Amino acid sequence: MINFRCCGCGEQMSVPRCLAGGNDSCPACGRSVPVPTKLIPLTCPACGERFDADKSLAGEQARCPGCGSPAKVPKVEWTDQDAAGLREAQANHAKVMSTPQDPPDVLAAESALKTMGDLLRKKILAGEMGPDE
Ligand SMILES: [Zn+2]
Ligand SMILES: [Zn+2]
Repeated sequence: MINFRCCGCGEQMSVPRCLAGGNDSCPACGRSVPVPTKLIPLTCPACGERFDADKSLAGEQARCPGCGSPAKVPKVEWTDQDAAGLREAQANHAKVMSTPQDPPDVLAAESALKTMGDLLRKKILAGEMGPDE
């Protein structure tokens, strides 16, 4: 799931991850809202549910789509380039895993995905220890 705020009324929405980059209508005001693609991965501290929060929620509380508990969203500088790199690594990984490939290709795709994951985790840690925290 992806948590983000309606740009019309500010209601916090959660939509399935497959809608990233598309549109969904706000349950509160009915407005069609673009679903963000710059996401920060979170794990709910209460129930362990994994979900993503929009970058605009960084430093705020996101509502867990599973149990409704608040989860703190760390501050992350997540650039367009990072987002594109992660999407590419995920797409390539999915492609490699869905068709039989030589083991070196699988390993390369897995390590590319891991590199992007590590980069994001580093940024999250840096954000959590930022000067304004
Ligand atoms: Zn709304
Ligand atoms: Zn939860």
